[in-house]
Amino acid sequence: MSKYVGAHVSAAGGVFNAPLNAMAIGARAFALFTKNQRQWVAKDLDTATIDLFKENLEKSGIAPRHVLPHDSYLINLGHPEEEKRSKSLEAFVDEVHRCELLGLEKLNFHPGSHLKKIDESLCLDRIAEAMNITLNQTQGVSLVLENTAGQGSNLGWKFEHLAHIIDKIEDKSRVGVCIDTCHMFTAGYDIRTKEAYDISMAEFGNIVGFEYLQGMHLNDSKPDLGSHVDRHESIGKGKIGLEAFRYIMNDERMDDIPLILETIDETIWAQEIRLLYSLQEMI
Ligand code: MN
Ligand code: MN
Ligand code: ZN
Repeated sequence: MSKYVGAHVSAAGGVFNAPLNAMAIGARAFALFTKNQRQWVAKDLDTATIDLFKENLEKSGIAPRHVLPHDSYLINLGHPEEEKRSKSLEAFVDEVHRCELLGLEKLNFHPGSHLKKIDESLCLDRIAEAMNITLNQTQGVSLVLENTAGQGSNLGWKFEHLAHIIDKIEDKSRVGVCIDTCHMFTAGYDIRTKEAYDISMAEFGNIVGFEYLQGMHLNDSKPDLGSHVDRHESIGKGKIGLEAFRYIMNDERMDDIPLILETIDETIWAQEIRLLYSLQEMI
């Protein structure tokens, strides 16, 4: 099997619990927060925690490349105010260090917001600059930009935004993209029919490039196409519908990357994972 489906599992009690939580729902990939996502600072990861995480990851049979840690929601690398931007940068470098310590290879994050104080292009430049600084201070971890719904002043909802940032990254071997299906849809990229899916994905391929695709978030959407509202729904129960997920599960461009559920009802994640695998057509 070439698809690696999982969910953004809880790391409550310690990051070492995340691989076990993934195993319990039959996941072959997972996402986690390596610290409390609503706080700026966290205590450093100690050796016992790191060792137990690696032991449990091994037990789960999930490869580090199929783990997609997510950074804190407080971080805004494009913040228009210098003081706040540098606070974000410092926290971001710490997030990457935590991934390094855990032996992980990717960090997923939202590009940033201009807060209506600077123009889009300057904000995107600031994000790229912060990423370059981070890459110079760390090693072995790729920075994975997530497309957004474009709610408020969040950038990254147009594929052009992602391409703009990637273009300015000095070490392109350490930058990637995670496509969130809910965000893509509410940003205005339709994937509900095979025709629409092919057009939207071709647009991604032409503007960003599939060589940068390092993960996906599989979410259905409560709001409509192009609404720019970020509200997830369980697979097949939202405005996107089940067919789009069948296209993804049978698209070899999504092989060997983490495909992560961030759907709203975690009690059915195990079922959703089985449902997604059942969509794979036998050749
Ligand atoms: Mn996200
Ligand atoms: Mn997401
Ligand atoms: Zn979202």
